[in-house]
Amino acid sequence: MNDERYSRQRLFAPIGESGQERLNKSHVLIVGMGALGACSAEQLVRAGIGKLTIIDRDYVEMSNLQRQQLYSEKDAREQLPKAVAAKKRLGKINASVEVEARVADCQKEQLEEIVPYVDLILDGTDNFETRLLINDVSQKFKVPWIYGACVGSYGMSYTILPGKTPCLSCLLEQIPMGGATCDTAGVISPVVHMVAAHQVAESMKVLVDDRQSLHHKFVTFDLWKHHYSAFKVSHAKRKACSSCGESPAYPFLSESHRSKTVVLCGRETVQIRPSFGGKRDLLELKEKLPEEHVKYNSFLLTYHDGKHRMVFFADGRVLIHGTKDISKAKSLYHQVVG
Ligand SMILES: [Zn+2]
Repeated sequence: MNDERYSRQRLFAPIGESGQERLNKSHVLIVGMGALGACSAEQLVRAGIGKLTIIDRDYVEMSNLQRQQLYSEKDAREQLPKAVAAKKRLGKINASVEVEARVADCQKEQLEEIVPYVDLILDGTDNFETRLLINDVSQKFKVPWIYGACVGSYGMSYTILPGKTPCLSCLLEQIPMGGATCDTAGVISPVVHMVAAHQVAESMKVLVDDRQSLHHKFVTFDLWKHHYSAFKVSHAKRKACSSCGESPAYPFLSESHRSKTVVLCGRETVQIRPSFGGKRDLLELKEKLPEEHVKYNSFLLTYHDGKHRMVFFADGRVLIHGTKDISKAKSLYHQVVG
């Protein structure tokens, strides 16, 4: 069956028979299953990688469906965690790929457990806090990762090879990458596909070990304005870089960088990570709250009293919707949970 399934990929000379075998044995981690993660995941699963691990902390909402291709209206109605909905859909696309789904915030413990066993990490995140964590863990375990980002009609990507290219920390010293977010500027679906196309093509080159074909440049484009550029960044690599330099300290893997509360990109939402250490009994919480305000599935519990909406996950996290103000979010949380 596989002969037929991957025939067009085998005919593609840079992959060929041996490349397909390598793909079939590879293990890729995608962090973040929003638009970019979903798009890359579908392509990699269709291409027949051996195993895909996905991590995502969020659940499916109607506003995701415009660009997050793995999810359906039913997933949004059921408020399924993205990792769970993605695994279901990917299993229907190619049952021969093992998909491990984790509904979790991407933290250092998760990454240090998974990354030693993967061949590659793909960036599907929307924030630099997580990317810098990925960057450090990639350097520590010498696993390549592929940066990708998009906002509006603008996108960019870069392939980071430990020991060879500059890392994200190096690049941040040289290239302005902050500014607009999908929160302020929105995002259109085609730019997601363009970034994911770059990320997945680069992934395939890494996985089939055709490293001389890698792009080696930082690519940016704007699909609305027809701007395309690629620039050399090899000079950005710093010997003193604390992530990829001569004596790395991996600062983003240290305790001091762990933040308990973050404002989520793209939404008026604050996420709180409680200090009690990573588990919440959702059924117990359900008993405590007025029944008419609670919606529950086995992955999460939504509380909505007409004014406030918050979502509790089994791993202890809470999303407080309707505000970007962290102290306001915390006081709402305490009003509901005590
Ligand atoms: Zn560096």
